[in-house]
Amino acid sequence: MGTLMDLRRWMERFAELVAADADRLTRLDAAIGDGDHGANLNRGLRAAVEALGPDLPPGKVLMTAGRALVSKTGGASGPLYGGALRRAGKALGDTADVDAPALGTALQAALDAVRELGKAVEGDKTMVDALAPAVEAYGAAAGDGVATAAQAALEAAEKGAEATVPMQARKGRASYLGPRSVGHLDPGAASTVLLFRALAEVAGDAA
Ligand code: ADP
Ligand code: MG
Repeated sequence: MGTLMDLRRWMERFAELVAADADRLTRLDAAIGDGDHGANLNRGLRAAVEALGPDLPPGKVLMTAGRALVSKTGGASGPLYGGALRRAGKALGDTADVDAPALGTALQAALDAVRELGKAVEGDKTMVDALAPAVEAYGAAAGDGVATAAQAALEAAEKGAEATVPMQARKGRASYLGPRSVGHLDPGAASTVLLFRALAEVAGDAA
């Protein structure tokens, strides 16, 4: 059996989706932050995709992309996304074929990294509100294969992101606004949905 998940394709698709949605992400960030999230992540992901050589093993794909994100993204989200991908890549070790359980382990490692680095919990109105339910939904469906699990993760991420609208931010720049952060979608949660949309699309192709 060949590689079940093409992680390079995942990163490329994530970069494409962020590029297409960069203006929306930036507008979301302008409402409750400093209006740079789309530009930040777009720049970081371009660098990440450029850094990916053709024959990297899966773990190295995520570690390389993560390293590029940390150094090129800027803002709070760079170290968080970058740290998440580095940790996910490390969790894969030298696994050659990324099957559904291996990807689940990597996603859990990514969530652990974001929690550790950013110290946000669910309800703080951050990317964790999309990432945590997505990783949980993935884990619950992992037995059904990577395409089904990734689709479940995407749906959970969308719901989780939507749930940030009524929240008051307690982490990151948006927290400076206090109650005025209520009523807006968190930009990092919105970009996390794109991470899982990319995963669901690429996993669907692989199945
Ligand atoms: P900055 O806030 O430095 O301008 P970005 O605009 O690129 O960085 O990213 C903002 C997003 O980062 C927020 O919408 C939120 O989802 C996420 N974020 C900020 N701080 C934290 C944190 N401590 N933990 C988790 N996510 C965070
Ligand atoms: Mg910002």
